[in-house]
Amino acid sequence: MPQYKAIIFDRDGTLNATSRGKGGYVLKADEMTLLPFVKESLQKLKSQGLGLYIFTQQRCIGKGLLTEEGLKDIHNKLNQLLGEEAAIDAFYHCPHLVDEGCACSKPKPGMLFDILRDFDLKKEEVLVVGDSLRDFYAAENAGMDFAFVPNDLGKHTDQEYAATGAPYFQNLHDLVAKVF
Ligand SMILES: [Mg+2]
Repeated sequence: MPQYKAIIFDRDGTLNATSRGKGGYVLKADEMTLLPFVKESLQKLKSQGLGLYIFTQQRCIGKGLLTEEGLKDIHNKLNQLLGEEAAIDAFYHCPHLVDEGCACSKPKPGMLFDILRDFDLKKEEVLVVGDSLRDFYAAENAGMDFAFVPNDLGKHTDQEYAATGAPYFQNLHDLVAKVF
């Protein structure tokens, strides 16, 4: 395995549960719930000196269901739940609707490239982790390594995951134990 310096996580369904919010969206800070093993796994990664970033699609902002301020509150809550030793270093989000023609909407690689630029990382130094095919394709479009953890809503089948050829882990604990 390459020597990674950073991990870029999808947020919903990868680090936190999606099923409690409206339409799968987390719209309030008190709807933020960590998935099992997330806190301990991020602690371990951070203790090894890895940068921890999030790239998240938040179309609920474009739809008018959430404000930018509201999203900040939700991310503050996420870091509060994680604690200092597992905190996310920076959050990147795409608020746009599908037809707005932005460069950041997954599976476009815009957010991933922004993180590389802002933190002076090379694409080989980063592992992207997510639960959705669009996360995988964003990483592929950026030329970055990718690993799956399963979707908490059961959105994809095992066959769909397998067809990508990307490694698949039962949960974040399993991934960290085997890759780091
Ligand atoms: Mg997701």
